[in-house]
Amino acid sequence: MNKKYKMSYHDAMKINRRALALMYKHFPGAVMSTFVSAVWGALTPYVGIYLSALIISELAGAKDKNRLITLVLISLISAAAISLVSALINKWKNVKNSYNWNRMWNIFSQKMLDADFAVVDDSKTQEHLSIVMQNENSGGWGLTRVLGNYSSLISNVASFIGGISLTVTLFVSRVPESAGGFTVLNSPLFIVGITAILIAVTLISPALSTKAGSYFAKNSKTNNYANRLFGFFGFLGFLNEKACDVRIYDQEKMCDKYNLDKESTFGSGGLFAKIAKEKEGPLAALSSAVSVLFTAAAYVFVCLKAWAGAFGVGEITMYISSLTRLSGGLSGLLSTIGDMRNNASFLKTAFEFLDIKNPMYQGSLSVEKRSDRNYEIEFRNVSFKYPGSDSFALKNVNMKFRIGERLAVVGMNGSGKTTFIKLLCRMYDPTEGEILLNGINIRKYDYYDYLSVFSVVFQDFNLFSLPLGQNVGAGVNYDRERVEKCLSDAGFGERLKELPFGLETYLYKNISKDGIEISGGEAQKIALARALYKNAPFIILDEPTAALDPIAEAEVYSNFNNIVGDKTAIYISHRLSSCRFCDEIAVFDQGQVVQKGTHDALVADEGGKYHELWYAQAQYYTEKE
Ligand code: ADP
Repeated sequence: MNKKYKMSYHDAMKINRRALALMYKHFPGAVMSTFVSAVWGALTPYVGIYLSALIISELAGAKDKNRLITLVLISLISAAAISLVSALINKWKNVKNSYNWNRMWNIFSQKMLDADFAVVDDSKTQEHLSIVMQNENSGGWGLTRVLGNYSSLISNVASFIGGISLTVTLFVSRVPESAGGFTVLNSPLFIVGITAILIAVTLISPALSTKAGSYFAKNSKTNNYANRLFGFFGFLGFLNEKACDVRIYDQEKMCDKYNLDKESTFGSGGLFAKIAKEKEGPLAALSSAVSVLFTAAAYVFVCLKAWAGAFGVGEITMYISSLTRLSGGLSGLLSTIGDMRNNASFLKTAFEFLDIKNPMYQGSLSVEKRSDRNYEIEFRNVSFKYPGSDSFALKNVNMKFRIGERLAVVGMNGSGKTTFIKLLCRMYDPTEGEILLNGINIRKYDYYDYLSVFSVVFQDFNLFSLPLGQNVGAGVNYDRERVEKCLSDAGFGERLKELPFGLETYLYKNISKDGIEISGGEAQKIALARALYKNAPFIILDEPTAALDPIAEAEVYSNFNNIVGDKTAIYISHRLSSCRFCDEIAVFDQGQVVQKGTHDALVADEGGKYHELWYAQAQYYTEKE
């Protein structure tokens, strides 16, 4: 059960209003056109109802030919005008709303793009986002529902008001005194009584349907979990990366248990089938039955009054139609309010996600753009614990490096190398100590300005399914010559010459059928070219070559070293052979820098970690030596 399910009416409406304001901020045209369409759609039917009543009354009464012709003409012209305007409004609405889905998801996507890396990297954020996505996608709960609900609210209010304006006379028109016993219909008590019955019947129906709808909201957690299972197991056959394992171990049957089992949440014996059979179904049926009662009561009341002579035959159709619409408006209004209340808990989850704070301090200093590119970075007593972790991933790290140097960061897996880079690039702030750029704490710099100083090729770097040139230039517009040079420096020059559309060749086939599939090694070269193209003073390779064998990695690193020019290059690897050419090698062990020096000095220190690792790994590359 969703514990957050219970929310007061006031709070539920408040959060719905907040959601509407958010929608309006992001897509005002969609909101306005939907509202205009709702009001127009709700009110215009009354024009027809009213004019038909006049025509029938005329036919049943005076039968004045000229008046009849005039009424028919007015009816036709107004029907045509209404259709025309409706079509225009609909067109406007469709155009303005065509992009809602993308824009709504962009609100969530933008939130993640604007979030501190620490927030994005937090598993709680990912879990939260996944729940929001499932609510929106599987049940259409949350922001997805807001515009529809408000449109329905407005439309029902308009129907209700329109209905009242045409039915007031039903209640106030009097049966002639000559009608004998029928004069009871004039009694205020009778009018109050029948109005109360009509309202009561009108209210029961939406109350039942809201109750029926609430079972879904109450069980949203179970639904989300089942959807998560479905999201994976339901599409297992589509996943080519799993195709081999599934076949070898015949895992299909095992997975069916999670997807097609009768007793699973969506199965015929599962929770939602039970709810549908035992709760939702009977309530929805009862709700429909009750609305028939309303029509019966309305017919009896209107016909009795007409029978007793309170009004003519024309009004009968007008009152019945108007009463039905009025009642539909009122019950629709209540259903909508019920739905908005049910949706409020999902909106709460969505807003809790959108309200996640960015805890990182944001400075405003701009990084000095030095023509001599004379930058110096210093780690001063830096220690760091990942959020929620008790142990230090880095402990008391002190390090200084200047532009032009080649620094290697080596150590076993888990020794803190990547954490060191994440702190350097301000993905996280140190728990203790500080990092300085040219003597100033990096927190004081404008974040994006500070990031402009670094090019990093991460171990799990990502390329886009976009043209090669845009990947390297990291933009739609780029300097072709420089992109070609960087690709050629990174060792992709020959392959580039073979590409059918040169720099315009799409990578992968997700977007263009003419896209090319590239090998892991080629992807690395493109990623290296992108890092070179950025032309930042610091360039970092964080084991993007981990998939290569040690000898190939050493080759990539030393080739790269020849092309980085006067930049500071930082090489990360758990394989010592790859970094032996560096001016300085920092050896990480359990989050600490345990040794620093050149390869020759470190390997000579027999008691040191480097010596130990070097000889442990020697078997992989002594052949080459
Ligand atoms: P390396 O790059 O040398 O392999 P890392 O810097 O990735 O090492 O990891 C250092 C330590 O920090 C390891 O104990 C690792 O388990 C831990 N660690 C890494 N990333 C996270 C994270 N996001 N949350 C918690 N602990 C982490």
